[in-house]
Amino acid sequence: MEVKEILCPSCGAHVKIKVGEPVVCEYCNSTLYVEDDNSAASVVDKKRLEELEMRAYQHRQAESEREALIEQSKKWKTLRRIFNIAYCIATFFVFILVNMNYTGAGVMIWLLTIACAITEAIINASRYPLDSNGRNVSGVKTNRGLVGVRILLSAIGWGMIGIVIAAIVSIS
Ligand SMILES: [Zn+2]
Repeated sequence: MEVKEILCPSCGAHVKIKVGEPVVCEYCNSTLYVEDDNSAASVVDKKRLEELEMRAYQHRQAESEREALIEQSKKWKTLRRIFNIAYCIATFFVFILVNMNYTGAGVMIWLLTIACAITEAIINASRYPLDSNGRNVSGVKTNRGLVGVRILLSAIGWGMIGIVIAAIVSIS
């Protein structure tokens, strides 16, 4: 926040003030406030001061909620990537095992992969980072059910990639 020097509107003394933060003039005890860079300093009464402090408090709360959401979103996305790569590797081995006539083992891994994908979709959808208004980090209002469907589809997609890679490896 920018610090600027103003003349106290009440007593004319030089006072250092931060934009958006009330300060008490040490010469006349008036509470002074500068709304933004373009507005002049004004003397505020107790009621107005409370309003300003409440507004500043709400602003800080919103900021910290936003920061927490960004942090959670990063972790969430990293976790999702790990799962997707795991599905890709799992289906790769399913294809290889079935191709080598270990069909039983292949089907076992395949069923396990599906079970994991469904469980993961439910857990990660319920943990999808949303703010108190149900918006995600990009500010989009989000439905957890749809997030779950999207997770499941991406798991299936990555599983297919694993199969395609295995098919290419088997042919060559
Ligand atoms: Zn003053």
